[in-house]
Amino acid sequence: MDFKDIIGQEKVIRYLKTSIRNKRIAHAYIFEGPKGIGKVDGAIVFAKAVQCKNYEGAICNHCSSCLKVDTNNHPDIKIIEPEGKSIKNKQIEEFQQDLLRRPYESNKKIYIIKDANLMTDSAQNRLLKTLEEPPEYAIIILISMHANSFLPTIKSRCQILKFSPIGEKIIEELLKDRYKVSSKEAKVLAAFSDGILGKALRLKESEEFKNKREETIQVIEKLLNKDALIVFDLVEFFQNNKEDIYEILDFMLFWFRDVLLLSQTGEDQFLINIDQEETLQRHMYAIGYNKIGNIISTIEKTKNDIKANVNFQLAIEMMLLTIQEV
Ligand SMILES: [Zn+2]
Repeated sequence: MDFKDIIGQEKVIRYLKTSIRNKRIAHAYIFEGPKGIGKVDGAIVFAKAVQCKNYEGAICNHCSSCLKVDTNNHPDIKIIEPEGKSIKNKQIEEFQQDLLRRPYESNKKIYIIKDANLMTDSAQNRLLKTLEEPPEYAIIILISMHANSFLPTIKSRCQILKFSPIGEKIIEELLKDRYKVSSKEAKVLAAFSDGILGKALRLKESEEFKNKREETIQVIEKLLNKDALIVFDLVEFFQNNKEDIYEILDFMLFWFRDVLLLSQTGEDQFLINIDQEETLQRHMYAIGYNKIGNIISTIEKTKNDIKANVNFQLAIEMMLLTIQEV
């Protein structure tokens, strides 16, 4: 693994490289950003660069240190993970004991704490003692979705580096080039990735994602058949998928946006659901151009209503009836 594998995070990488070059490496970092964005990989590559025996602006990938990192065998790079649902006081205590021993074969000892937001308060308070007076060879990297999940006293002692989502277009290209995903599938996955490569790859392997999308398309299909009674049957689908409701509503949103796009341009090159073009075409004729906008705003409103905690069943029923009526 190398810096080039941390895709789309140029700013963070530039910062880390500069800090190595200027010998201004901090004792503690927080790498924050959404799940799947590459924070852990980023931390490992940074650690690899710090430990590389021939580092000169680039990782050599050949020295004994680099080889050990690649086989997860470097004695001076350690990864701490939650045990069960949290990182416990005891784990931080063990880490502190370990930290007292000097590095085995380099000048730095690097600890990467995954899901560090799962530290209990007492674990955080214990860690704080280390952050207040770290040994000169210590580098501690806390990985978390949000820097705000730490006590302010912890945060103030860490350099915070933010990993941000990258463009969907870049994800689509990566899926095609690196992961050999077909261009139709790449488009669908990229659209649902939120700009996070890790999420796109997770969805790619997820049967559940594929099934949910299929089912949602079937629900839309039934809805457009104009049988008023069916609405009450369809509510059940939404009830059963309450936990993934935002994903389902997004399936619907993207679907009707495609119908709108198709009726505006007659072209398919920007469609997300490109693998379902025939069904989209059929729906376009069934709905009629001037009603599609209404459907889209109804779904958006429902999303907001559910976020605002209105009665779930009522919100869904209203949405389905409105879609059917328009
Ligand atoms: Zn090396």
